[in-house]
Amino acid sequence: MSDPVLSIRGLERSYVTGAGTLTVLRGADLDVMPGEIVGLIGPSGSGKSSLLHAAGLLERPNAGRITILGRDCSDLPDRDRTRVRLATIGFVYQFHHLLPEFSALDNVALPLMIAGVARGAAQKRAGDLLGELGLAQRTHHQPAQMSGGEQQRVAIARALANSPRLLLADEPTGNLDPHTSTAVFENLYDLARRTGVAAVVATHNLELARHMDRVFALRDGHLEEQAKV
Ligand code: ADP
Ligand code: MG
Repeated sequence: MSDPVLSIRGLERSYVTGAGTLTVLRGADLDVMPGEIVGLIGPSGSGKSSLLHAAGLLERPNAGRITILGRDCSDLPDRDRTRVRLATIGFVYQFHHLLPEFSALDNVALPLMIAGVARGAAQKRAGDLLGELGLAQRTHHQPAQMSGGEQQRVAIARALANSPRLLLADEPTGNLDPHTSTAVFENLYDLARRTGVAAVVATHNLELARHMDRVFALRDGHLEEQAKV
């Protein structure tokens, strides 16, 4: 059997605030296998973003292990964690975080060029990805000239540009109206399936969560797998 793409063990995270220490994750465990699409649900404040930031090597937890493709990244120096992240992980956030001065095409091509792909080839791949997401007519628009759903599609294309093995999406449709949210979610889901990327998608939309292979709920800082309905 192959290694999980992402393995989380005993993840603990607390925040020290003026009001005292807030413990959010209390020993969360999760394995995500190649090609698997996993939903992460839980009310606002339950720790979904904290978990994704730790899993994506953006933040260091207080305790626990994060293993990516069989490599324990927990104690690696920041430089190596950044390298693993750039080579392996794509992120989609609730807000698109696209560069406002750049076209859709350049926003998607940029991570490829940073990874060393020549400009022409990067733009070709970016154009193909945007086309797959139905944005062929929008490649030269800047983010402000696009709708919220289009902006999120560009963000999805950008996250997948480098062919990551792991996609982490933090309420990727949480800022969209219900109809657009469903459409963009389907784009994300279809593209993830087609590319075979393993994905963890945080959402508090239970209807969307039902489409995933497995769903985990954050409860009191632990992950509990939900029965399929
Ligand atoms: P979710 O994504 O499920 O809404 P978060 O992981 O963002 O949950 O946050 C979990 C809890 O931790 C919330 O109560 C939030 O206010 C708190 N929190 C998150 N980040 C910080 C931080 N940097 N400093 C202090 N508290 C934080
Ligand atoms: Mg969040």
